[in-house]
Amino acid sequence: MQKVRSKVVLLWCERYNEDLIYEKIKYGIELLGGFKSIFKEGEKILLKPNNLTSATIEEAVTTHPAVFGAACRLVKDNNFEAFYGDSPSRENPVQSLRKNGFTEVANRYNVPLADFEHGKKIVFNDGKVCKSFDIVNAVFDTDAIISLSKMKTHAFTRITGAIKNQFGCVLGFNKGVFHVKYPDASQFSRMLVDLNRYLKPRLFIMDAIVAMEGNGPRSGKPRKVNCILISKDPVALDSVFCRIINLEPAFVATIRYGKQDGLGTFHENEIELLGDPLELFYCKDFDVERKPIVSKTKRSLNIFKKVKVNENHYPRIDETVCIKCGICVDSCPLEKKALSFKNGKNNIPVYDYSLCIRCFCCQENCPQKAIK
Ligand code: SF4
Ligand code: SF4
Repeated sequence: MQKVRSKVVLLWCERYNEDLIYEKIKYGIELLGGFKSIFKEGEKILLKPNNLTSATIEEAVTTHPAVFGAACRLVKDNNFEAFYGDSPSRENPVQSLRKNGFTEVANRYNVPLADFEHGKKIVFNDGKVCKSFDIVNAVFDTDAIISLSKMKTHAFTRITGAIKNQFGCVLGFNKGVFHVKYPDASQFSRMLVDLNRYLKPRLFIMDAIVAMEGNGPRSGKPRKVNCILISKDPVALDSVFCRIINLEPAFVATIRYGKQDGLGTFHENEIELLGDPLELFYCKDFDVERKPIVSKTKRSLNIFKKVKVNENHYPRIDETVCIKCGICVDSCPLEKKALSFKNGKNNIPVYDYSLCIRCFCCQENCPQKAIK
């Protein structure tokens, strides 16, 4: 018997118009079997956009509020109760969601904010590398998650998409702990797969109308891809994201482990593409590092034999842009910080690369895009 393939819907969309996006995602979900084939009557649905940090819409750091609004409308039109939220690593979620335009949209659809400020520790015995998480209450107060990710590059995990978006369900300040516990990007990625295996979001919608390339996830450049991607399989969705940007999916550890640990598949013959043709969205020159993320213990894997792994992948501060605010220093999750005002607070922070674990939390949080 032929195995059921994971479906990924690709939809051409050039503008952030809420009505247009609503029609697109409504159609896309019909291609997947319809909203009511995914959610059971009476379930409470949590909408989880990417709200990494406060930023302007033009910077393409967060899921666009028009995509969020279209999702709110879709849930409401299907007579389901909706909630929303996200937990940035450094900011207060309530203030940040307001600044990024989500609150205004949610109020318009009468969608209440879920609790992303408190949570509890859970034990996940099935975790491959991580058997315990501090999860926000929003997850326990609802029945199902719709993950609304943004297509972006990421200095640490190569890309951030459907799988990584759920890191926001970990309590705010506890995220840094994971960087210390899993300094290896490969193991960190496998932890993200465990997190998804625990949370089991039902539906993944990716905003790739304007994506981010280059120095992501905070400081890259907006790049028009004109696409909305929808799937029930986050591994398949992220692998199609990779194919659009000309990146080998197996180079991304969340995708590799996602397949290995049973979260989904990235093999082309196991994925059915629906909607508009993939070729329409190709961005072959998309600015992304086309090298694999390899576990320090797995470098002998045949697939990576001929590929040079970049050992000089360290954050650096552009002194012409830095305003010496110190947010990067505060963001460093290490107890003995790898970045400090060694020469005084009126000077540029200084890295100690012998300590740095290359988690890129400093780069992710710099408001000036001064860290490359
Ligand atoms: S966060 Fe950015 S601007 Fe602020 S001190 Fe660090 S590098 Fe400079
Ligand atoms: S200096 Fe930056 S990249 Fe290095 S460990 Fe600290 S936050 Fe992570």
